[in-house]
Amino acid sequence: MRPPESTTPGGGSAPKSDGRALMPGGQGTTADTDVLVVGAGPAGLTTALQALAHGASVRVVDRREQRARPSRALMLHARALEGLRPLGVTADLLGRADTTPEARIHLGRRVVEARLGHADLPDTAFPHLTLVRQADVEEVLWQALQDRGVAVEWGVEFRGLHQDNGGPPAWQKGGPVHAELNGARGPGHHASRFLAGCDGQSSTVRGITGAQWRGGPYRVEAVLADLELDGPLDPGLLHVAVGRAGLAFLFALGEGATWRMLATRPAVPGSSASFGQLGPPVPPEEVARLVRESGLEATVRDVGWSAQVPLQHRIAGTFGTSPVFLAGDAAHAHSPAGGQGMNNGILDALNLGWKLGFASTAGRPLPELLESYGRERLPAARRVLALTHLIFFGEASPHPAARLARSVLPAFAPVLPLLLRRRWLISKGVRLLAQPFVNYRNSAISRDGVPQASGWPRPGERLPDAVVSVDGQVVRLHELTAVPGIHLLLGRDAGPAALGAGPAFAVDSRPRLLHVHRLTSHPGTGLVAVRPDGYVGFRCGEADPAQLLGWLRLVGAVRD
Ligand SMILES: Cc1cc2nc3c(=O)[nH]c(=O)nc-3n(C[C@H](O)[C@H](O)[C@H](O)COP(=O)(O)OP(=O)(O)OC[C@H]3O[C@@H](n4cnc5c(N)ncnc54)[C@H](O)[C@@H]3O)c2cc1C
Repeated sequence: MRPPESTTPGGGSAPKSDGRALMPGGQGTTADTDVLVVGAGPAGLTTALQALAHGASVRVVDRREQRARPSRALMLHARALEGLRPLGVTADLLGRADTTPEARIHLGRRVVEARLGHADLPDTAFPHLTLVRQADVEEVLWQALQDRGVAVEWGVEFRGLHQDNGGPPAWQKGGPVHAELNGARGPGHHASRFLAGCDGQSSTVRGITGAQWRGGPYRVEAVLADLELDGPLDPGLLHVAVGRAGLAFLFALGEGATWRMLATRPAVPGSSASFGQLGPPVPPEEVARLVRESGLEATVRDVGWSAQVPLQHRIAGTFGTSPVFLAGDAAHAHSPAGGQGMNNGILDALNLGWKLGFASTAGRPLPELLESYGRERLPAARRVLALTHLIFFGEASPHPAARLARSVLPAFAPVLPLLLRRRWLISKGVRLLAQPFVNYRNSAISRDGVPQASGWPRPGERLPDAVVSVDGQVVRLHELTAVPGIHLLLGRDAGPAALGAGPAFAVDSRPRLLHVHRLTSHPGTGLVAVRPDGYVGFRCGEADPAQLLGWLRLVGAVRD
């Protein structure tokens, strides 16, 4: 039996706070860093990377002594991979992942096959379900930060904001946010322009924003266990057992043994575990019972590791107001159904990070840009929460209707193979998990120019991947946009004034973050500006420098 792997602590400090670790900042009027990120889970690491890539200096602290293990999440979806691609981490992530997963669905005595790779989704470079351990995702993100000179500071806890004697705090007067930190070297202050609370479901940062935490606990909780099993289970595959009491999943991704089981059971009252976190171990006989009652033809030989995880469905009433923001589980708590929590946190972070980067360096306030974070992400998170709630009801609810549905499912076993062989059905499932329903059309930073462009996605919509030509070269659109920054896509006949070398961008002081591509495959005089998180921000039927510049100013992509 292998114990769950643990990792070496990192440590050190981020740009601008080198050698100052916990201390200074004090109550001065200057910031030590642009962004202080609290929490080095997937949301915090991605926020830091995205903010750094877009011009901010960052410091990342986490109260854990080392990276989290074993993993909770095991699924990454296409939208998160697309958003992470410009940060140069996807090759590494995919290198650790199973991108052609096959599932065996156990319905009573029948076993039905489903292939979850190679979906028919031409508008993404990642047309598959991706199985990868959360610990691997975090390691890749952590390493990318490290490579860029930012070492996560483990063992450093955010305690709250420094209370000024009387009077409003400095940040309410336009000054920096003074955070109180505590670590092995004792307490200290840190002053930053922005604070990103990525500190999980029991967020301390959420407490100081005063945001309501709406929702409630689930009546069932998750049981995670790494197991050695005896029985005729095909190795290396995902097994899903449909039992009357709930679904049980076996992933070939165990960290303390071959199989990782995810099952549910009625919540244990009075548990000491925190919501969404790995709690105390589950007795081996209870784990064996869950396997037996799942309907899997397998018996437990060894339990390498196990944990109970209490679950809740909640969402913060606000995702923060500048300069304090919430992202990831600090802003929304999901059940594991559909594998959305980590993905959703990464999408928050990709949205927030570039805005913090631009706001840190624009040299002027960018209220619309910063407000757009919560205005875009809160409704999106609400919809994702509704999706996970619905799936979890079907998967695990003790409600009689859900139990009935699960108990009649085996009767459909003869037709399921026919259905699951249909590629369109699998494709629809894979697409749904990638959150195609999320768009920012109503955002204040989604703008249409005059005349309105046709043939391009609307402002606020995700830019779909497609084959295009640029200067006679055939490329995929997402390959072109796979570097940080804003991408201007010009129609073939767009006027020369909109070109990067033209007067429109003479004021630009961020040439690295503004990229211009002329799509010779797209006739017309229009253009679209694609945001760093892959959504269309501005669209116009003419490449009019004045209108374009107006939008670039709005989002801080050019300095005055
Ligand atoms: C059983 C299970 C299965 C799941 N499967 C999936 C899946 O397949 N796909 C998916 O997308 N999601 C899944 N999830 C959800 C996913 O694990 C979480 O949504 C994800 O970990 C949230 O990331 P985060 O960075 O927001 O928070 P966390 O990962 O919780 O990280 C928060 C960090 O903040 C630190 N912190 C907290 N307070 C402080 C403080 N005061 N000072 C300093 N540091 C602090 C913590 O130490 C921690 O490291 C699953 C969850 C469970 C329970």
